[in-house]
Amino acid sequence: MAKTFCIANQKGGVGKTTTAVNLAAGLVAQKQKVLLVDLDPQGNATMGSGIDKANLENSVYQVLIGMASASQALQHSVEAGYSILPANRDLAGAEVELVDLENREMRLKLALDAVASQFDFILIDCPPALSLLTLNGLCAADGVVVPMQCEYFALEGLSDLVNTIKQVHANLNPSLKIIGLLRVMFDTRITLQQQVSEQLITHFGDKVFRTIIPRNVRLAEAPSFGVPGVIFDKSARGAQAYIEFAGEMVERIKTM
Ligand code: ATP
Ligand code: MG
Repeated sequence: MAKTFCIANQKGGVGKTTTAVNLAAGLVAQKQKVLLVDLDPQGNATMGSGIDKANLENSVYQVLIGMASASQALQHSVEAGYSILPANRDLAGAEVELVDLENREMRLKLALDAVASQFDFILIDCPPALSLLTLNGLCAADGVVVPMQCEYFALEGLSDLVNTIKQVHANLNPSLKIIGLLRVMFDTRITLQQQVSEQLITHFGDKVFRTIIPRNVRLAEAPSFGVPGVIFDKSARGAQAYIEFAGEMVERIKTM
């Protein structure tokens, strides 16, 4: 049975999708069977995995509103090596439509339950909001991975996310926990980043992943080729860091 993790942070542009696609590819390199769920109407994880979001017969939108099953909407990315439940702009409508549906927070979980036995890992790339879509992600997950940039306001934003996770844990999904905080786009030359990184460790201790993802342009170039950075240029520093991070994830969930 798959272990399911959300990649979440309500702040935009902090590296959620980059983490989701590269962790997925890194886990595949460790012989894990992986499903990546794109839960963002931007469809960046879909495109970044080589799937054309403009030509989807079924997507996570149809799955959430009950017009298709997860297995009907699944696609396999041959180059990336994992399966994907794709998304496009249709998903923006789900936010409104879900409100009136039964089990509105649980619909992704119920849909994924039907395919979970086919995978070792399910990763959910969340949109940059604490919305009903993200809530569906949190209700479907065993844990949350939080990518963050070590910048001045990063810690402040984190408390909203931590509170949401606590509420979901208390009311909707008792198995939900924070797996860890991942420092991304890190530049060791910037003193402020070092300071925020130290503050993070003071507050969150070993919830902060050991692996640090550096700022690396090869990771940013990869999506335009429709593959994760880990596949695009495996030897680049950023790719190597995500491969190491996949190893740390496998190790960490053994002790969960
Ligand atoms: P959104 O909130 O819009 O979904 P996001 O949190 O998913 O954004 P990404 O799309 O992963 O963030 O990253 C934002 C931008 O930063 C992208 O252009 C991406 O290529 C770039 N980026 C992410 N990680 C790195 C990195 N380690 N080094 C260099 N560029 C990076
Ligand atoms: Mg994203």
